[in-house]
Amino acid sequence: MGDRGLKSRAPVIFVGHGSPMNALADNDFTRSLRELRALYPQPRAILVISAHWMTEGTWVTHMASPKTIHDFYGFPAALFDVRYPAPGSPAVADLVRETVKSSRIQPDDEMWGLDHGTWSVLRHIFPAADVPVLQLSLNIAQPASYHLELGRQLRGLRDQGVLILASGNIVHNLRKIRWEQDAAPFDWALEFDAWARDKLLARDETALSKEYLAFESGRLSVPTPDHYLPLLYALGASDSRDVLRFTFEGIQNASISMRTLVFNTPAG
Ligand code: ZN
Repeated sequence: MGDRGLKSRAPVIFVGHGSPMNALADNDFTRSLRELRALYPQPRAILVISAHWMTEGTWVTHMASPKTIHDFYGFPAALFDVRYPAPGSPAVADLVRETVKSSRIQPDDEMWGLDHGTWSVLRHIFPAADVPVLQLSLNIAQPASYHLELGRQLRGLRDQGVLILASGNIVHNLRKIRWEQDAAPFDWALEFDAWARDKLLARDETALSKEYLAFESGRLSVPTPDHYLPLLYALGASDSRDVLRFTFEGIQNASISMRTLVFNTPAG
């Protein structure tokens, strides 16, 4: 690792991952992911909060070689052939467990690995798969405030070179989905996506963690919490020293927001 990685604060990234097929695609979205690598070329490790690992209790992957999990059905064989062979890091997992004081983080040595919320994104940002990757589970029984607080507790890891990557979708309604990727977005999807953008710019933690279901477009955009909650980790792990930049925006399949954003602390 170069000195640069040790001295500067690792960024926080939230990616709207959308369809697993983005893992194999070459489109505007995946090209925008490839550009993120220049932000922080060699993190010590990447800690991912993926929409696709929901558990009772809160867990962190603790194995040295996490397996690639193909947690979907009905996709082409080529997608099931994808492997993302990044190492894990039991040492960084223990660091996460020690750093978080607000709740007990349990070590997972066999249950999980890397799901598609993680590898469909990381194979574009870090195609060499040479940086250790860990996942933190979503304790789905807990309210939004729990996830925001857990994000805050992870913030200090950034000073130790750990990049925080949250992977979900701000708008994610599969029941309303249209097959064409470029189908016209629903008005409520555009409305909620813009609402979230404005609240992020204002760092309005109360609105983003407590008010997002108080109106119709929020309830349609977040019919289940799994893809929204990772955003609260990104918000919590960032602070007013960070500059917020939206690196991709757009709605795929009428009801999936691909909005992707970075919190990065300017050097010096
Ligand atoms: Zn997903």
